[in-house]
Amino acid sequence: MNFLIRGSLHRHGEGCRTVPLAGHVGFDSLPDQLVNKSVSQGFCFNILCVGETGLGKSTLMDTLFNTKFEGEPATHTQPGVQLRSNTYDLQESNVGLKLTIVSTVGFGDQINKEDSYKPIVEFIDAQFEAYLQEELKIRRVLHAYHDSRIHACLYFIAPTGHSLKSLDLVTMKKLDSKVNIIPIIAKSDAISKSELTKFKIKITSELVSNGVQIYQFPTDDESVAEINGTMNAHLPFAVIGSTEELKIGNKMMKARQYPWGTVQVENEAHCDFVKLREMLIRVNMEDLREQTHSRHYELYRRCKLEEMGFQDTDPDSKPFSLQETYEAKRNEFLGELQKKEEEMRQMFVQRVKEKEAELKEAEKELHEKFDRLKKLHQDEKKKLEDKKKSLDDEVNAFKQRKTAAELLQSQSSQAGGSQTLKRDKEKKNNPWLCTE
Ligand code: GDP
Repeated sequence: MNFLIRGSLHRHGEGCRTVPLAGHVGFDSLPDQLVNKSVSQGFCFNILCVGETGLGKSTLMDTLFNTKFEGEPATHTQPGVQLRSNTYDLQESNVGLKLTIVSTVGFGDQINKEDSYKPIVEFIDAQFEAYLQEELKIRRVLHAYHDSRIHACLYFIAPTGHSLKSLDLVTMKKLDSKVNIIPIIAKSDAISKSELTKFKIKITSELVSNGVQIYQFPTDDESVAEINGTMNAHLPFAVIGSTEELKIGNKMMKARQYPWGTVQVENEAHCDFVKLREMLIRVNMEDLREQTHSRHYELYRRCKLEEMGFQDTDPDSKPFSLQETYEAKRNEFLGELQKKEEEMRQMFVQRVKEKEAELKEAEKELHEKFDRLKKLHQDEKKKLEDKKKSLDDEVNAFKQRKTAAELLQSQSSQAGGSQTLKRDKEKKNNPWLCTE
């Protein structure tokens, strides 16, 4: 085996040098090593089904993976939109696939549908955030981490034949920078062939005029460029779901039977189910995973790190290391802390001053009140003393009058006694004298 050595010779313009090797080196087995490693680790793929209740989301998933995933059918009475996530371990040949199917519950069932997209956006962001947190850990185990980021969003459009509902447009617009959207017309057996062609054109033009970016199957890889290019022209896929198997000819086929006939799920003349399955699972599963990581997650990560204050370059466009960012952020934080401390100190001093002034005012009021009461008390005391004095005078005057009266009375009683004696003597001498 010969290798082409590209090195200093090549740079000096002397072309490539062919070096003959003594034996087999074998780095041509590197792709095989990668494949073996990936196969032993297994893969994970996460699908988000967004669409109104009853549009056939669960049925389509069962049909796609040829199994019956458990799950109760949702009612139309949900107060809000919720997301239901189930993970299954699937095996095909020796390849293991951890498949997560997330489905909206109650989407489009509320009278006010204004915020219906929010739980979906929050769910997608939460998966990105979980991955980012794992990436930022000091001891990270990304190879063993269950990556729950959504790789493909199947957006189920109702087969109205008219145009997209505003709920669909708003939701797709909110999701298109976060996830690979593959729009599909659900229950397409409910729409005629000519209506379907017009409906597809209408949907595509509405998506373009509203600036909704849907996932385009990649055409840069030569091996799949042709098929992907053709399939891009078929979007949105019109699908039918059924787990029922009917005998058609001598074969058992997935189909839906109606009084007027049978529609075959895997018949490309009847619907685009096979196209969807080919594109989603067989041809572009890895591209969907890669786009999720390199485009959508990268955008989330960038915005999140910028929000946290990390930058690659400083304002003069010079490279800015993580260490410098950390230190700049730390200084900024310390500066803010000092500012806050100073503000709090000022506020404390101000409050103390206010309280002091309040206390002084209260003390002054108390003093005034005390003086007022003291004066009142003195006036009252003086009045009482005056009254006491006048009462004492009255008592003295009364006593004097009493003494005088008693004296008078004793004098008069003495005078009365001597007169009686005189009259008794006179009576003795003169018995005819009448006394009274
Ligand atoms: P989900 O609420 O979106 O998960 O819808 P389901 O998968 O539970 O389907 C609701 C009903 O629609 C069931 O009765 C299905 O049999 C039926 N259904 C599912 N897919 C199709 C389809 O492609 N065409 C028609 N006509 N009916 C379908």
